[in-house]
Amino acid sequence: MISDNIGHIRSTLPQGVTLVAVSKTYPASDIMEAYEQGQRIFGESRPQELAAKYAELPKDIEWHMIGHLQSNKVKYIASFVSLIHSADSAKLIDVINGEAIKCGRIIDILLEVHIAQEQTKHGWDMCELIDYLQSGVYRELEGVRFCGVMGIATYTDDIEAVKDEFRHMYKIFEQLKHDFFNSDFEIISMGMSGDYLEAVGCGSNMVRVGSSIFGKRN
Ligand SMILES: *Cc1c(COP(=O)(O)O)cnc(C)c1O
Repeated sequence: MISDNIGHIRSTLPQGVTLVAVSKTYPASDIMEAYEQGQRIFGESRPQELAAKYAELPKDIEWHMIGHLQSNKVKYIASFVSLIHSADSAKLIDVINGEAIKCGRIIDILLEVHIAQEQTKHGWDMCELIDYLQSGVYRELEGVRFCGVMGIATYTDDIEAVKDEFRHMYKIFEQLKHDFFNSDFEIISMGMSGDYLEAVGCGSNMVRVGSSIFGKRN
């Protein structure tokens, strides 16, 4: 099942789009089934669960932190995480930077931008993000590399509204890249099981797909 699903999803993705298999809540045995199909990038949303799976599973897996991250939990994942999608505040970025330096590494991060209608979703407000970047302090952080943006669309059946949000996200990416960053800034993480094809159509180059691979979560 899982292997068929992975194969199918890959067949729908154009070259240059990275598939993050979102394995949160699923057991190691499910991850191994995807691994046997060649999948090496997995996404998790809880730091402790991520750390436990890292310890148990093959070391050539690239682990992505995709869920909201509390500053006091960065330490659980700092030594090995490949990419943090959910960098959504100056404080969190500072903590990631400090933990990375302690581990002697540079951690790749994405700026999570709030694009959805819902109030509850995390992510930078654009005005606050621009203020933060204009302050220039981010340029002094030696333990993090700003690699792009991440966005979560509104949870709705209105696919046109979702596409509007994705197109908006793409414009934000271009603006940030042009105004503040360089060639390292190249990832647009958007799209989940229900909307990843639309996201790719709007310029996403990294999709986070969970239930379409592993089945429904409880
Ligand atoms: C759970 C999760 C996903 C995957 O969702 P599916 O609908 O199962 O594909 C993607 N992104 C984030 C941030 C998530 O928390």
